[in-house]
Amino acid sequence: MESNEPTARFSVVVPCYNEEAVVDHLVEVLTAVLPQVDESFEVLLVDDGSSDGTLAALRRINEADPRFRYFALSRNFGKEAAMLAGLSQARGDAVAIIDADLQHPPTLLTEMVPLLEQGFDQVVARRTRTGDAPVRTAFSRLYYKMFNRLVDVTLQDGEGDFRVLTRRAVRALLAVGEYNRFSKGLFSWIGFDTAVVDYENVARAGGETKWSMRSLLNYGIDGVVSFNSRPLRLAIWFGTFISVIAFLYAFWVLGDAIINGNDAAGYVTTICTVVGFGGVQMILLGVIGEYLGRIYLESKKRPHFLLKESSDGPSATPVAVL
Ligand code: UDP
Ligand code: MG
Repeated sequence: MESNEPTARFSVVVPCYNEEAVVDHLVEVLTAVLPQVDESFEVLLVDDGSSDGTLAALRRINEADPRFRYFALSRNFGKEAAMLAGLSQARGDAVAIIDADLQHPPTLLTEMVPLLEQGFDQVVARRTRTGDAPVRTAFSRLYYKMFNRLVDVTLQDGEGDFRVLTRRAVRALLAVGEYNRFSKGLFSWIGFDTAVVDYENVARAGGETKWSMRSLLNYGIDGVVSFNSRPLRLAIWFGTFISVIAFLYAFWVLGDAIINGNDAAGYVTTICTVVGFGGVQMILLGVIGEYLGRIYLESKKRPHFLLKESSDGPSATPVAVL
């Protein structure tokens, strides 16, 4: 390893996807703040297959200050994979994860890291939702309510990936080898004592968000099906409920025909029933398919990410975790 500082007590992992507009500013802020947290720090900038000049910027940053290491994934693998890549390469006894866009204020680290000494293994920053669009806030509230009912791990609104972990917690996360990683849930799943620090929501320092409403919805579904099979159980109950109603209705129509001689059961009801049941079956098949698809992906055992380049040189280029 060529790095001037092969060990560090404190590591900061930053996933970067098309963040050319903000990385320089980020590095400036981190250079000012991190020495206050720990003199012996390193930053791991993970380029998640950016299509802009992010990688070139990271090379330049590393050249100027080797405490900023960089890793470039071979393509865009998603934030989960980028975080995993950073965690797997971090050397610190404590590891923080922050966003590149400065929406996770690095100064908060000076408050968060000392809490580890009080015996906590995770310190989470909780964002108060002040700047978000009201629709998005309402949706995410509703989502967390539903999620916590459906799934065994609990999630808190506003608690995201901005957190500090002890080496022990990092090791636990790296040991979870599943391909579909829903970090929010995994952080909760590994357990350990967790402290919470609140912070005000801040707008992006530059560039733009990578999340559309649609990707958020998909992310939400991922979260639910990643953690247990309760939706399948719900599907059974739902199916039973619909069938019971259908049977009752059939008996009623039959009785009506026998007793009252009223045999003209409507054309409309027939069509409605056929279409309705078709819809219900599609939904239920979709639920089953979700799980089946996951089993397929997991069973292929593909690596979570591939590295194409790193500041550690080719000798330190592992293909993936596990
Ligand atoms: N990110 C990433 N890969 C992706 C999408 C996002 O590494 O495919 C990074 C991005 O560079 C940023 C963080 O994940 O550091 C959060 O992304 P963003 O700010 O777009 O999300 P938001 O803050 O809007 O939830
Ligand atoms: Mg952001």
